Amino acid sequence: MIVMKFGGSSVADASRLRHVGEIVKSQLNRNPVLVLSAMGDTTDHLLEAGDLALKEGKVEISGVAKLHQAAIKNLKLSIQKEINDLLDELTRLLSGIALIRELSPRTKDYLVSFGERLSVRIAAAFLKSININAKAFDAWELGFLSNSNYTGAELLKESWDAIPEKVLPLIKGNVVPVVTGFLAKDDKGSITTLGRGGSDLSATMIAAACRAEEAQVWKDVDGILTADPRIVKNARPVQNVTYDEAAELAYFGAQVLHPRAMQPCMKTGTPVLVKNSYNVDAPGTKIEQVLSSAKKSPPVRAITSKHKVTLVDIISTRMLGQYGFLAEVFSVFAKYNISVDMVATSEVSVSLTLDTSYDLTEIKKELGKIANVEIKTGKAIVSIIGNVKRSSEILARAFRICQLLGITVQMVSQGASKVNISFIVNDNEAAEVVKALHLDFFDAMEKPEVPK
Ligand code: ASP
Ligand code: MG
Repeated sequence: MIVMKFGGSSVADASRLRHVGEIVKSQLNRNPVLVLSAMGDTTDHLLEAGDLALKEGKVEISGVAKLHQAAIKNLKLSIQKEINDLLDELTRLLSGIALIRELSPRTKDYLVSFGERLSVRIAAAFLKSININAKAFDAWELGFLSNSNYTGAELLKESWDAIPEKVLPLIKGNVVPVVTGFLAKDDKGSITTLGRGGSDLSATMIAAACRAEEAQVWKDVDGILTADPRIVKNARPVQNVTYDEAAELAYFGAQVLHPRAMQPCMKTGTPVLVKNSYNVDAPGTKIEQVLSSAKKSPPVRAITSKHKVTLVDIISTRMLGQYGFLAEVFSVFAKYNISVDMVATSEVSVSLTLDTSYDLTEIKKELGKIANVEIKTGKAIVSIIGNVKRSSEILARAFRICQLLGITVQMVSQGASKVNISFIVNDNEAAEVVKALHLDFFDAMEKPEVPK
């Protein structure tokens, strides 16, 4: 058994769905379970419709209705009634929101659930029409139980048993289940969602809980790339990465697979294959426990950069050797729900980085009682994900490049997972650094361009 997940752009319209049909057919002998996102940008459009109902009292679903009806018509499916029933239910919900001018997180989840509920029904009907024994399911019919943390629910432990109990008999019966990603239900029977982009997690959860051969996540990129293609033109797909490396990549800017989505498969050692539905022949990226590729692994797997970062330098005004200083510093950040990305410390000072979006006025005041605080905006984190055994070589080469470029490294940290070396530079220097690093680590024959 395998799990194949198709994201919004892979199921955006009739022609994309036909293409999905071909991909599924080619792997039918592997007993696929399909997990789908909402078609195209439907989730965003549903949220916009909710906002409009809430703020202006207007009910507007024509865009969403058109997209789905056009797909049915184009694919010549006779599920008009089922789809119209769902669209009617959606209209009633929006009318309710417009009337009472209230949109709680619970209602929001109910609202966005229509995206995935529509897409699986259309896809399953289409697959049937091309002789695939497909059947649509809402995730809660197949054991997806979550807590009541609406808009960002977490799956309950019970799901680990409940999912295979439902899914495996279907596979035995040669059914191809087409399951809504992103959704679950809580113990009160309310629909919940697993957070934006959550359908990857739905797929990896089914794969892990059913001990599938692999989870395939079909996207619109060739997999995890060696760098951001907007910065490095000849960035290329990374063929294999470990779960740890992939998690580091995701945290530091490679927007391919959310680290949370890898967790189920990390537990069971199930490989996750990221594939491009627009470029089926590309090998994609395989994320696994231990690299299966026998090839000698390069020192660096990928380079990422995260922009709009703020650097905070905190220098203790107390005596040297004082205990509890770090605890105090971090408790202030925790109190204001601020997530810290990178940290470096010395005996009397701490440097850390945060997203620039946070308002730090209060924090500065509070930390000011125990330290001198300096806040520097306009920074970027450059991260090198690579082979820990070669970290000295990586550091030497990376800093030599910064030196040659005349760029000052303002903070350094080697993550606890040891696969990530990160450093801070000015935001406007980051692209240049990433380009030069990529040239040095991936195009070894050429020499990095160094300004005279
Ligand atoms: N449709 C949801 C979203 O756009 C879930 C997903 O696509 O993974 O966030
Ligand atoms: Mg989506």
